[in-house]
Amino acid sequence: MYYPEPISKLIDSFTKLPGIGPKTAVRLAFFVLNMNDDDVMDFAKSLVNAKRELTHCSNCGHITDQDPCAICQDTSRDSSVICVVQDPKDVIAMEKMKEFNGRYHVLHGAISPMDGIGPEDINVPDLINRLKDEAVEELILATNPNIEGEATAMYISRLVKPSGIKTSRIAHGLPVGGDLEYADEVTLSKALEGRRDL
Ligand SMILES: [Zn+2]
Repeated sequence: MYYPEPISKLIDSFTKLPGIGPKTAVRLAFFVLNMNDDDVMDFAKSLVNAKRELTHCSNCGHITDQDPCAICQDTSRDSSVICVVQDPKDVIAMEKMKEFNGRYHVLHGAISPMDGIGPEDINVPDLINRLKDEAVEELILATNPNIEGEATAMYISRLVKPSGIKTSRIAHGLPVGGDLEYADEVTLSKALEGRRDL
């Protein structure tokens, strides 16, 4: 099908987004053409600014516009407990629950030998460094309840065990094969409550 170049470029851009197939991309592109100029400018600016102004916290790896992030800077939080998650979206899911008052560590992925992703490819070395510098007593391993998430939790648990830091795994109530970010707050809260020692 023929589109003028600016439209086909816009369609291509939408196709790069997750969950957007070719048909939806066409629909969105034409929707944008019908939006008013100010809304389109705001939309474009939000995309560019989000990318430009956000960085990863040098301590915990969470997305932030200040380094260290607000959570790492918050002295009222319990620094003896670190909740280890795969993705910044998981931090946001945990924060929405409003029950966890420790700190986080974002791995940005999970160990997956099938895809050639080892511990060095995700944020594990930084976690180990944090354990040397910070007085951490417990690691809550809240990686996703699927094969890669379980493998990552087991790996970290074994790595940390000799140091005497307690490791626990959230499990209860979370659907196997699911993503942490999609769990509702009650399920996530139960999962945290029902964590078991590793
Ligand atoms: Zn941080």
